[in-house]
Amino acid sequence: EAKQFDVVVVGSGGAGLAAAIQAHDEGASVLIVEKMPTIGGNTIKASAGMNAAETRFQRVQGIQDSKELFYRESLKGGHNKNNPELLRRFVENAPEAIEWLATRGIMLNGITTTGGMSIERTHRPKDGSAVGGYLISGLVRNVNKRNIDVMLDTSVSDIIFEDGEVKGVRLTTEENETVTVSTRSVIMATGGFSANSSMVVKYRPDLDGFVTTNHKGATGGGIALLERIGAGTVDMGEIQIHPTVEQNTSYLISESIRGGGAILVSQKGSRFFNEMETRDKVSAQIIALPEKYAYIVFDEHVRAKNKAADEYIAKGLVTSASSPEALAKTLGMDENTFLDTLERYNGFVAKQHDDDFGRTTALRAPVNEGPFHAIRIAPGVHHTMGGVTINTQTCVLNSDKQVIPGAFAAGEVVGGIHGGNRIGGNAVADIIIFGTLAGHQAAMRAKQ
Ligand code: ADP
Repeated sequence: EAKQFDVVVVGSGGAGLAAAIQAHDEGASVLIVEKMPTIGGNTIKASAGMNAAETRFQRVQGIQDSKELFYRESLKGGHNKNNPELLRRFVENAPEAIEWLATRGIMLNGITTTGGMSIERTHRPKDGSAVGGYLISGLVRNVNKRNIDVMLDTSVSDIIFEDGEVKGVRLTTEENETVTVSTRSVIMATGGFSANSSMVVKYRPDLDGFVTTNHKGATGGGIALLERIGAGTVDMGEIQIHPTVEQNTSYLISESIRGGGAILVSQKGSRFFNEMETRDKVSAQIIALPEKYAYIVFDEHVRAKNKAADEYIAKGLVTSASSPEALAKTLGMDENTFLDTLERYNGFVAKQHDDDFGRTTALRAPVNEGPFHAIRIAPGVHHTMGGVTINTQTCVLNSDKQVIPGAFAAGEVVGGIHGGNRIGGNAVADIIIFGTLAGHQAAMRAKQ
């Protein structure tokens, strides 16, 4: 059967769904193709939120922020390796992206902070639930309302490229049939490659044997498809490990737990670093501990404010005890060391100064309300900052930085925006900002 669409979106994570909705709203006919049996990609696992500066929701809460500071902190967090033009576009378009979601019934009006950000700019659902599930269900509601075609269990196996432009894609369907779809615009929103351990180890031999937080579909196939039509790549060796991953389940323990006031404690019972430093630095400190793991410790006050904590408890990941002594005993820690650690930390909260490690953000609440909770964590492969090259209009660039006509890309498949280290909350921002932009560009091309 011959199919034809104005725009084909490959991948149904946040970037793909946002792109599809935007292209549809500008009048394009859109097909979404997803290789997995379910919608949502890795986005559905996102926990912390979506960073943006100078938003309406920040203003309502009296939070003073600036795009310039957001830019500088993202650049610093990314080791100054971020592509400056892409990062500018990202920071500039972020408040609009928050509004784009709000007008579609997706309200991210609860605000917290993540490692490396000095201001509360991580937007998340007000009720404290994880951002990923909320975001994907809201986007799916919008896709359904618009009757946008979605093919699940179907992967794009080729981009058809002739006469110097995209002409279509070849799909392998659920029934293992090959279907050709004609289109002038393909939006690649296929995510990263954290779940492809041989690809990870090829670029980063030191990550051999690490668990990953990612869903099975994060295998980097989209990068290969684009490379076949000439796409350039950048920063492929920049792979982020997330510091707080429960190792038996590969479950990521959200940064919002630390953002709510949790601390990190070694097996000895001591704090060892500023918990709110960037992911790369916190991970390095955990790996440097003799046991190569640590505990994230929080009290009832933090649990009550974060729905993710209840999810971790339900999954059996949390050790809880009525008193700090009892918790230390259960974890096999030296009780006195642990008690001293809490007392000292609570003193820092009281005077709002961390004499030991200089924590300045989320130094908000003492750890003193029982029951007390701990989760044993260690780093896991979490995000691939590298990927294909694009310009600020999401057009895929070849290795000579020339536009490949008809090929657009958005989300984790793209490299350069996050430089050497992605800040928590910047991936969800990335997918909505560049996803909607890709949808817009692809729809414009359809009108030409
Ligand atoms: P992002 O956060 O950039 O949106 P996600 O990981 O959330 O990325 O989503 C990417 C989606 O793309 C995943 O659901 C993945 O299964 C899908 N995908 C990857 N490669 C292909 C492919 N070749 N064909 C169809 N879908 C793909």
